[in-house]
Amino acid sequence: MNVIVNEETCIGCGRCMEICPAVFYLNEVTGKSEVIDPEACEFVGCCEAAEENCPVDAISIEE
Ligand code: SF4
Repeated sequence: MNVIVNEETCIGCGRCMEICPAVFYLNEVTGKSEVIDPEACEFVGCCEAAEENCPVDAISIEE
């Protein structure tokens, strides 16, 4: 599984990090979300919720 954040689209709201802190990290310098561990999705299973709740559809998940 691969998780991708489109940094062009991300507005840095931090919602993905709140939902799935094992996978997403909000870089306070760039103000953009970064993927720290896409494999963590397999265990935690909350990445799809993060994808659905991103207000600008910046998250994509590839199986
Ligand atoms: S939820 Fe979307 S817009 Fe908000 S920080 Fe995460 S990727 Fe960026």
